[in-house]
Amino acid sequence: MFKIFIRMKFRELGKTGLKVSVIGFGGIPLQGVSNEQAEKVLKAAINQGINFFDTSHASSYGDSEKKFGLYLPREAIIATKTKERTPEKIRKDLEASLVALKREYIDVYQNHCVDSLETLKQLIENGSLDFLKQAKQEGKIKHLGISTHREDVALKALELGHWGVLQFPFNPIKREFKAVYEAQEKGIGYIAMKPLDGGNIQKTNLALKWELEHPVSTVIPGMITIEQVRENVENAEAPLLIESEREELRNSIKGLEGMCQSCHYCEPTCPQKIPIGNVLYLYNYAIKIGLLEQALGRFRKSMKGKPDPYSCIECGTCEENCHNQLPVRQMLKQAREFFKEHLGNEYDELFKNKYS
Ligand code: SF4
Ligand code: SF4
Repeated sequence: MFKIFIRMKFRELGKTGLKVSVIGFGGIPLQGVSNEQAEKVLKAAINQGINFFDTSHASSYGDSEKKFGLYLPREAIIATKTKERTPEKIRKDLEASLVALKREYIDVYQNHCVDSLETLKQLIENGSLDFLKQAKQEGKIKHLGISTHREDVALKALELGHWGVLQFPFNPIKREFKAVYEAQEKGIGYIAMKPLDGGNIQKTNLALKWELEHPVSTVIPGMITIEQVRENVENAEAPLLIESEREELRNSIKGLEGMCQSCHYCEPTCPQKIPIGNVLYLYNYAIKIGLLEQALGRFRKSMKGKPDPYSCIECGTCEENCHNQLPVRQMLKQAREFFKEHLGNEYDELFKNKYS
């Protein structure tokens, strides 16, 4: 059983009856660490009072769902998702999630990345939603949820009321207050995703405090070290921001709108397998945040042996899959030219095996 920690606070997840820790655990980054490290971090999270864990069966979440299944106790509340759009494919995904998570039922099961009103309509009209409601009646799912990156979809889903939980970005840069407050009014749980805007926000503690001033149920930063778990949890009992902190936060995010959130959603379908999110993130790191040397160092380390951004064939698939509707091709061009200019021959050395 969980020990109750004075530090951690809990909020209702809408009308689900679940009480979730205000600091939840975003699973995406867990795919980048070993099983051993994942076990340590998840245990630390549990020991610090975190009881809400978010993952998905979609490829962009890697093996995080399996790691949850291996290392989380039954008491942990897990939200997982399907990106499939037909009843038959959703059934397969649901079964696979139950196996990966080693559970008899899923606490919160979400339609994932519903990023257009057409997709929302499709899920309702082609029997996908009916299938999920049936699975809920059969006890395989306790609560239905939906995740989206689009405000029009979020508001429509809230209006329709089929889903008891909404997962939608909310942070000091992406401030969609309407969805947060409408969810509260309707008694729908709100999972604030991208609380650090995919790593663009550097003032982590101030951002989490800011988000928790609003009626979200939980915020789900990603964590891969015990230190990050401790730092994030410290914000759970944080008082309201004082004016000087608000000013500090405002100054730290100036000019950051329209940046890549390094969510990696556009990458699985890139025919050239370019680590788009990493390249754009490091470019922003250098240009918008001003950490040139750190960005170059991280580019050298993380891009070694990876596909060269110059191998882009401009197919545009990444733009179709980018939730922020970013001009990815153009941004990638700028970023690669920037790194080539700053690294010179070193740039060619990094990718030479990819040319030969
Ligand atoms: S446009 Fe380039 S980066 Fe985007 S998916 Fe196509 S090859 Fe990949
Ligand atoms: S380009 Fe768009 S989809 Fe790709 S990592 Fe950045 S924000 Fe995510």
